[in-house]
Amino acid sequence: MSFKSLGLSDAIVKAVEEKGYTKPSVIQEKAIPEVLKGKDLLASAQTGTGKTAGFTLPILEILSKNTTKGKRPIRALILTPTRELAAQILENIKEYSINLNLTSTVIFGGVNQNPQKRALNAGIDILVATPGRLLDLVQQGVLSLSKVDILVLDEADRMLDMGFVRDIKKVIALLPSKRQNLLFSATFSREIKQLAGEFLTNPVLVEATPENTTVEKISQRVVRVDKVKKTPLIIKLIKDGDWSQVLVFTRTKHGANRLSEKMAKSGITSAAIHGNKTQGARTKALAGFKEGKIRVLVATDIAARGLDIPLLPHVVNYELPNIAEDYVHRIGRTGRAGANGEALSLVCVDENDYLRGIERLIKMKLDSSMIDGYEVDPTIKAEDPNPQRKNQRSGGGGRNVRGGNSRGGNSSNKPRSAASRSKSSFNSGGNTKPRRRD
Ligand code: ADP
Ligand code: MG
Repeated sequence: MSFKSLGLSDAIVKAVEEKGYTKPSVIQEKAIPEVLKGKDLLASAQTGTGKTAGFTLPILEILSKNTTKGKRPIRALILTPTRELAAQILENIKEYSINLNLTSTVIFGGVNQNPQKRALNAGIDILVATPGRLLDLVQQGVLSLSKVDILVLDEADRMLDMGFVRDIKKVIALLPSKRQNLLFSATFSREIKQLAGEFLTNPVLVEATPENTTVEKISQRVVRVDKVKKTPLIIKLIKDGDWSQVLVFTRTKHGANRLSEKMAKSGITSAAIHGNKTQGARTKALAGFKEGKIRVLVATDIAARGLDIPLLPHVVNYELPNIAEDYVHRIGRTGRAGANGEALSLVCVDENDYLRGIERLIKMKLDSSMIDGYEVDPTIKAEDPNPQRKNQRSGGGGRNVRGGNSRGGNSSNKPRSAASRSKSSFNSGGNTKPRRRD
């Protein structure tokens, strides 16, 4: 199967070939023809399998066939939960459309509106946006959504988790009723199905069922260690292993700052990225990390969704997430596009329940060991690892999480029964085996 045979024109095929893609991924093979037919889509595939091109390429194909005269109205709208993801999708769109006469831009909160307004004024075919800034600019009369033909909700489950459901509905109310809708989600929860039921019309269900073999692309291991020894241990591991690019997850923003400062003090270049940082700082940290100027990026779960850092070899859970699904998304930052990766979790006695929840979700027992000199003190008793969880969630994207119950009623520590995705390969062709489901 080739990109051309999926119905994409030479200008687009050439652009993806220049990106180094030799053949479509499974989700791309399934999604692209359906989108080209004009169908609504409800799609799910594990992270890192090329969903962005799965919706972007056919959108480019459709839009490039019907260019309009005069000032361009926005014809495709892509909503994402976080600013970083929005920026990344725009980057992909720019690359894929390099040989086309189409314009695109991105808008999100936390930065000056004026450059965004100017870009919009020039006339934009494809707009990528986070919901808050989009509605703000619509209210100011800066942009109109009345000519949107195609709507994409990327990481829709995350948007619901972050409390964006009302904003999404407000946006949808501003769109023409006749349009094409594409909904991408890592899980098909009850809330997602409900949303899909409300605004998709006869959607085609697209699920990638990746071969099991690539699960092993990410090696996962647990190191047991006392809470107070986590910082010296992670510093030692990074130094001894000579790790050059490490993404480290903490549960809280404060914890991310603290760890990043300690890293810096020990001579490891580091930056923290989370919802309390200014957008300028977030962008700079991520860019520095991608370029290799920053060795360690310490993040809350904001960075766990959607972000694509090519060839990231190491992900460390300094603390386990209290929501088991987030583990899958965190470690999915490594081993992308078929590369190898290692995911290491530092687990103290307080986190045993989280670990059990994760193992239940991924249906796998994780190998666990101790490091010489950092052995666990068996006399230390477990404490509540996340006493503030009722009023705090460590993510925070375009806007703050609203309400205490933004995880759709899942306020306990119990892992949600969501389908965890095993790793997929870009070379598995159409020949897929059935996948484990929970
Ligand atoms: P997802 O949205 O499914 O998590 P992305 O769209 O971010 O995944 O893509 C993950 C990575 O795979 C990106 O680096 C992207 O450039 C790369 N990629 C996408 N499609 C292909 C392909 N057909 N062949 C090789 N690499 C690809
Ligand atoms: Mg994605």
